[in-house]
Amino acid sequence: MNPSHPPSIPPLTRRNFFHTAALGAAAAAATPALLRGRDIPAAASVAKARNLIFLCSDGMNHGTLAFADQYLRMTEDRSSHWMGLYETDRSVVRALMETRSADRLVPDSAAAGSAWGCGERVNNGSLNITPDGREPAALLVKAKARGKKTGLVTTTTATHATPASFAANLSTRNDEESIAVQYLERGIDVIMGGGRPFFLQRTRGDGRDLIAEFEAKGFRVARTAPELKAIAADHSRVLGLFADGHLPYSIDHRSDSELRATVPTLAEMTAAALLCLAKAREGFVLQIEGGRVDHAGHANDAPAILHDQLAFDAAVGVVLAFARERGDTLVIVTTDHGTGGAMVNGLGSGYSATEPGLLRAAEVRHSYEFYLPRLLAATPGERLSLLRNYTGCEITEEELAALGFVPDGPLPNRWSLNRAMGALLERYFAVGWTTGHHTGEGVEFAAVGPGAGAFPAYVRNDAVHHHLTEILGL
Ligand SMILES: [Zn+2]
Repeated sequence: MNPSHPPSIPPLTRRNFFHTAALGAAAAAATPALLRGRDIPAAASVAKARNLIFLCSDGMNHGTLAFADQYLRMTEDRSSHWMGLYETDRSVVRALMETRSADRLVPDSAAAGSAWGCGERVNNGSLNITPDGREPAALLVKAKARGKKTGLVTTTTATHATPASFAANLSTRNDEESIAVQYLERGIDVIMGGGRPFFLQRTRGDGRDLIAEFEAKGFRVARTAPELKAIAADHSRVLGLFADGHLPYSIDHRSDSELRATVPTLAEMTAAALLCLAKAREGFVLQIEGGRVDHAGHANDAPAILHDQLAFDAAVGVVLAFARERGDTLVIVTTDHGTGGAMVNGLGSGYSATEPGLLRAAEVRHSYEFYLPRLLAATPGERLSLLRNYTGCEITEEELAALGFVPDGPLPNRWSLNRAMGALLERYFAVGWTTGHHTGEGVEFAAVGPGAGAFPAYVRNDAVHHHLTEILGL
C-alpha cells in the first residue's frame, strides 16, 4: 500500500480491487503452509498423549449447544459438562473449526469425518478416498499399527458415516456391509451402535456371518444393555449391536421402560468402551458419536435434539472424569458440521416467553419419528387432540391446516411435515430453524489434556488429523 495514503479505507474501485487481490495472492503464495491442512505449522514441542477420546455431536449448531446448556442451568442449576469445561478448566483449548469438504462448502458427515480420519479433504459422500482416487490410511488404522487399541461408539448404525470415517476407505458411505467387513479386517477392538443387519448372515447380501467371524477373532457380542454390562469389564474386544437401525432417539428411549432396560445410553456405552480399552498397554484411540443430534436437526425436532444433546453431554461427563483421573488422555469435543440451523430465539414481550418455551419443549415425551406416523394414520377428527397431546401445546385448527392437513386434501409428505412442524413449534418452544439440511458455519471445537495446546484458535478439519497423529506419535 502507499504509505502516504491516509489510514482510512479507500473506496473499492475496480483498480484497487485488483491491486488488493494481487497483494492477497502474493501473501498467500508466501505462506502456503498455513493454507493447507496437511502442512500444519511445526510446533517447537508438542506434548504427547497416550490415549485419544474424540467426541462428536453430529450436526450440532451453536444453538443446540446453548439449548442443552441453558436447560441444565434452569432445571439443575448446573452447566453442561461441555460448558463446565470452559468455565473451570484453564488448560482447555477452544477453537472454531472450518468444516468444508473437498468439493463443497457444506460437508456431509462422511467427508467431514474423513478430514479428521485421514487428514485430507474428500468429496461429499465418500470415506477416506481422495478426489484423485488415493486411499490414505485412517486414524484408527495408524493407531493400530502403533499397537494401540481402537474403538467406535455411536447412537447411529455402527457402520454409519462418522464412525466409518475413522476406520474405512470406501467410495460411498452407503455400503455399510463393506464397512462392517473393513472393521473386522482392520481389527477395530470395540464397536457399539445399531445396524445389526449389516453383520448378520441372513440379512447380508454376501451371506457372510460376521458375528461368527468377530467371535472367532476373540470378540464378545452384546445385544442388550445388561449383556454389555456383564462383559465389558472382563473383555477387551466387544461388538455391541443394540438395534436393527439407529438406536432410538433419547427422547423416545427415556419414555419407554422396555427400551431403557434393553438399549444402553451413549454414556453407558462410553463407560463400557472405556472399561474395555483402558486395559490397553500401548494406549487407545476411541471415537464417540452422538449421531442422532444430526437427525433431529434434519427433522427440525427441538425436543428430540435437546435430549440427544443432553445424552451426548452425559457421555462427555464420563470421558472427562476418566481423563482427569489419568492425565495421559487427550479429549476432543466437537461436531462435524451444523444441521438444521437450530437457534434459541427471543420469544414474547421482553423475551419473557423464551424460558417457558424451552421448558415446554423439554417436557415433550416423543420424537416426530415416533408420533408423526401416528398423526398421519389417524382419522381427521382425531388429529388435533393427538397433536396437542404429543406436543403439549394448544395447537389451533388453523395451525393444523397450516401443517398441510386440509379437509379432503392429500396428506402432507413426511419431509414437508417435519419442516412445517419446526416452523409451527418455533412459536411455542422458542427454538428456530434455518433449514432441514446441513449448514456451513465454523463450529465449536474443544481440546483438553496433553497436546491440546497444539490446536490453533481457527483450525481446518483436515489439519485436526495431523495434530492428532503428532500428539499421539503415530
Ligand atoms: Zn446429516
